[in-house]
Amino acid sequence: MPADDRPAPAAIELIGLRAGYGRIEVLHGVDLSVAAGSVFALLGANGAGKTTTLGVLAGRIPPTAGCVHIAGVHMNDAAPHVLARSGVCTIPEGRAVFPNLTVTENLALFGLRRWRRDRDAEGRAYAQFPALATRRGQLAGTLSGGEQQMLAMARALAVEPSVLLLDELSMGLGPQIVDDLYAAVRRLTETGITVLLVEQFAKTALAFADGAAIMRSGVIHAAGRPDEIAAALSDAYLGTVA
Ligand code: ATP
Repeated sequence: MPADDRPAPAAIELIGLRAGYGRIEVLHGVDLSVAAGSVFALLGANGAGKTTTLGVLAGRIPPTAGCVHIAGVHMNDAAPHVLARSGVCTIPEGRAVFPNLTVTENLALFGLRRWRRDRDAEGRAYAQFPALATRRGQLAGTLSGGEQQMLAMARALAVEPSVLLLDELSMGLGPQIVDDLYAAVRRLTETGITVLLVEQFAKTALAFADGAAIMRSGVIHAAGRPDEIAAALSDAYLGTVA
C-alpha cells in the first residue's frame, strides 16, 4: 500500500490502560481512540476516572499496565515535559491562570520560549478570543470565570499543541459563555488540534463533540457518535445531565 493511503493514526489511543494512586487502582483497563482533529467528550459520574485518564495522558500519573499512544507513538513512560513537547497540553479544572498577572503577562509566561521566535502568538490568541484583547492589561484574577477560561485556552494555544486536554470547561459558567467556549473549541479543531474534554454536563458536550465515551468505574462503558452516546445516557445514571 502506498504510504499516502495509510490511515492517519489516532491522535490519542489508550489500550487496556491501568493506573491509580499508590496501591489503589482507579483505571481498570481503559480502551479509547480519539481521531485526529476531532472533539471528543469523556463523560461519566463523579469518581468514574475521567480526570485520572487525563492525568495519565499528561504524564502526571504513570500507567501500571496497557498502552498510551499519541499520534501513533508509544508514550507510556514519558514525563510531563516530554509529552508537552510532543504537543500534549492540559487545561486543568479550575483553569489555573496566574491571578496577579495581567492577561498579556499570562500569555507571555506560558509561551515565552516560543515567543522569542514567534512574536505573533499574542495576536493569534486575541484573534481567537477577541474579548481578551480589550482586557489585556487587566489582572487575570479580576476576569470573569468565562474570560479566565478563555485566557487558559489562549495560553495553551501559545505553545501550539496538537492535543488539548480540557477538564471541566463549563464548571461554574453560564450557558451563553459555555456555548461561546465550545464554539472556540470547535474553531481549534479547524486548525488541526485534537481536543479531549472531560465534562459533567453531558448534553452540552454532546452538542459540540464529534465523538464521546461514557466512563464508569474505571472502564469505558460505551463509546461512539454523540447521538449514540446520548441514547445510552440516562439521568439516573449520570445524575448531572443538563
Ligand atoms: P469527577 O467528575 O468527580 O472529577 P472523575 O471521573 O474525574 O470524577 P477521578 O478524579 O479520576 O474521577 O477519580 C477517580 C477515583 O480516584 C475516585 O474514586 C477518587 O477518589 C480517586 N482519586 C482521585 N485522585 C486521587 C488521589 N490523588 N489519591 C487517591 N485517590 C484519588
